[in-house]
Amino acid sequence: MHEKCGVVGISLEDRDAARPLYYSLYALQHRGQESAGIVTHDGFQQHSHVEMGLVGDAFGPGDLESLNGSNGIGHVRYPTAGSVNACCAQPFSVSFKSGSLGLSHNGNLVNADEIGDELADLGHAFTSDGDTEVIAHDLARNLLEEDLVRAVKRTMERIHGSYSLTIMHDETVLGVRDPQGNRPLCIGKLDDGYVLTSESAAIDTLDGELIRDVAPGELVVLHPDGTGYDTYQLVEQTNTAHCFFEHVYFARPDSTIDDSLVYEVRRELGRKLWEESGVESDVVLPVPDSGRAFASGYAEAAQDDGSDIEFAEGLMKNRYVGRTFIMPTQDERERAVRLKLNPIKSTIEGKKVTIIDDSIVRGTTSTQLIQLLKDAGAEEVNVRIGAPPIVAPCYMGIDMASRDELIAGDQSVEEIRDEIEADSLSYLSIDAIAETLETSRADLCLGCVTGEYPYDIEGEETDRDVTRPEIGGEPTVADD
Ligand code: AMP
Repeated sequence: MHEKCGVVGISLEDRDAARPLYYSLYALQHRGQESAGIVTHDGFQQHSHVEMGLVGDAFGPGDLESLNGSNGIGHVRYPTAGSVNACCAQPFSVSFKSGSLGLSHNGNLVNADEIGDELADLGHAFTSDGDTEVIAHDLARNLLEEDLVRAVKRTMERIHGSYSLTIMHDETVLGVRDPQGNRPLCIGKLDDGYVLTSESAAIDTLDGELIRDVAPGELVVLHPDGTGYDTYQLVEQTNTAHCFFEHVYFARPDSTIDDSLVYEVRRELGRKLWEESGVESDVVLPVPDSGRAFASGYAEAAQDDGSDIEFAEGLMKNRYVGRTFIMPTQDERERAVRLKLNPIKSTIEGKKVTIIDDSIVRGTTSTQLIQLLKDAGAEEVNVRIGAPPIVAPCYMGIDMASRDELIAGDQSVEEIRDEIEADSLSYLSIDAIAETLETSRADLCLGCVTGEYPYDIEGEETDRDVTRPEIGGEPTVADD
């Protein structure tokens, strides 16, 4: 199960949370298109609406009106290649003796099966095979014996892997980020309340203000009356494992994640791409939309160096075609790339062209594009990529294809260049990424580009000591 999703939680002073939650989900739509859902609490009971499809399709007229209450959480779920699975749509909601719970999860646990088996032996019945339900049951069990903060802490002691969660226990909304901060989560202030969400662009959409990122291992509890929040640093961690691919591909360019504006990071990566492997050509074309910021940084750095390279939009994207990446067969993926992108002949014909994309995974997009550009009269097609070669699968929540599908899984850059029929091909180095994110390699999750993971995954290598930190003692309240 690869859950690459968007989460949100909102507490307001005196108005229903459903509509702001709905707008936030719109802002997070890029993080998941398979299903969308909202769960609210009106002080007496939960209200839930979860449907398959895009946000605009999942909620019909009247659906929001029935979601009463000034506290709530929401979720958009990313589809897995070839699977449409209604039972995994979220938020997951359930009522226990210990109260009602709603959970929205972005990430992927590496020990969900183990915990699920243990809980099943204790009599817990599961309705899905998703890891979110495992978290819900574990938390519900802990809530029978502990207060909310200690119960969350105990659950954090058991679950390993990546998780950014928004949780609703009765009418209290909380946000939790895993001890290594793999997936993003931030907190923002609205005129009449607070919001926890995967990306700051959702806070902007609500005319709110980003306060800060939720720290790795931190729990934030919003006051149900919308007047404030408490925070608890539940786990201290020596290394983070932020996913660099959020900045490279997944997140919106207008979001700020772990203190860096994604757009500026991509532009800087583009500049570094020129510095590391710039190639003279007549024109630089972004692969829309993901390559755009990289290409503008690359062209700017080239021009600063005195190059006559021109930045142009040479590929038109049909924005009504869905994500080609997740189509189940190679044939359909190839057809979809052609449906999605069409060259603008005048910017290409007779020219030496460099195309810039954020990543190559299976190689479908670049192979198709190079052919298209050559058919449109390009004299030369150079390819520059704003990330290192993707050599291994992601277990932490990004659907990255299986190892044998990855074009760089067992091939050198030269072999890949030959296969996609580019005139030249270069990728960005890992160091350029760490430097741009102003962090060290040790604080990033680089599993997909090194094959070494910051988590203990069966059959894979780890790049660090994955002994769990001691989580005992009293919860510490952070000072804001
Ligand atoms: P591919 O065509 O398989 O080489 O995939 C690379 C293209 O898909 C690039 O244009 C990326 O922007 C995009 N991409 C990369 N990773 C993902 C992902 N996990 N899900 C969806 N699209 C992706």
